[in-house]
Amino acid sequence: MFKAKAYAAAGATSPLASSTIARRDPGDRDVQIEILFCGICHSDLHYARDEWHSFLPTVYPCVPGHEIVGRVTRVGSGVTRFQPGDLAGVGCLVDSDRTCPHCREGLEQFCPGMILTYGSPDKHLGGVTYGGYSDSIVVDEDFVLRVPEGLNLSGAAPLLCAGITTYSPMRHWGIAPGKKVGVVGLGGLGHMGVKFARALGAHVVVFTTSPGKKEDALRLGAHEVILSRDAAEMQPHMGSFDFILDTISADHDLNALIFMLRRDGNLTLVGAPEKPFQLGAPGLLFGRRSLSGSLIGGIAETQEMLDFCGRHGITADVEVIPIQKINEAYERMLRSDVKYRFSIDMASLRSE
Ligand code: NAP
Ligand code: ZN
Repeated sequence: MFKAKAYAAAGATSPLASSTIARRDPGDRDVQIEILFCGICHSDLHYARDEWHSFLPTVYPCVPGHEIVGRVTRVGSGVTRFQPGDLAGVGCLVDSDRTCPHCREGLEQFCPGMILTYGSPDKHLGGVTYGGYSDSIVVDEDFVLRVPEGLNLSGAAPLLCAGITTYSPMRHWGIAPGKKVGVVGLGGLGHMGVKFARALGAHVVVFTTSPGKKEDALRLGAHEVILSRDAAEMQPHMGSFDFILDTISADHDLNALIFMLRRDGNLTLVGAPEKPFQLGAPGLLFGRRSLSGSLIGGIAETQEMLDFCGRHGITADVEVIPIQKINEAYERMLRSDVKYRFSIDMASLRSE
């Protein structure tokens, strides 16, 4: 066991603060990583503030962070795919039961025994797992990803959650040339969704509540931008989308989005607002439209996504911050004031 520096929240209303946590010494199959960058996901904020209490109550103290990129510093004797000096990534998962039908299909995110990077039972040290707002992490090599060389590392970190969470449903729903795809909410997930939909050849339309993001949406790859609170901008697109990806983190109206779909179109939720939705049946009935959800992606698909990003030169657009600005960054994220992902430079923690 060794000590690591971290930023932790002590309670739902406490700001994150500097602290020390225990990490296990790498076992035979473990990889120890010096964390260089960690993205800030809105899920970190939901979790730190216990907004998901109804289905994932927060255990305090909590150390969020699941968009991790770093360098391998130590490996166990049985590790075959990594050696010290390699670049490595860790996303939302650090373990699973490996035997259930989901794991056997490479869909570890649906494993009943999945271990999240933070807030899950830690079978090695007791207590719960601690995430990437830290200077290091130790993870079983089966859950460590290869980060393609040549990608900007601060921008690569968000691929580990925002990237896979938007890539996976687009692959599942067959996004390809000829499809009209909507991306709702231009935040961390949304801007990655735009990049992937464009790279997969779709016609891409962004729905935003922020007039100031219109130009950026086009620069990021959208063909069109709709201000979702402007009925006149929404109306011409009704009944026209094959697929819409909803990344909104807060309470909003789903009915208007359902009616944007064409017959047999699908609206997939990846955003996880605190409050339940109100949904009328007609939007789904008329047009046989469907509503579904999607959760990150499995390890193999995460690697596929990273390799896709390596080939296409895709990374997140980030604002790099020192960890001491984390609480301010949370407030700005709540105001949709981030272009388009905060990425923590972990050198700022090491020098504390
Ligand atoms: P984010 O960067 O804060 O982006 C959310 C965007 O939603 C904002 O930029 C804003 O876009 C829009 N928005 C915010 N409040 C709104 C409101 N009241 N009404 C309408 N639009 C609003 O968050 P993120 O990190 O992308 O995460 C988005 C959601 O996905 C969170 O709930 C997060 O927990 C969830 N998530 C889910 C998964 C999964 O596996 N399913 C994985 C990661 C994250 P505009 O300014 O363009 O309107
Ligand atoms: Zn996330």
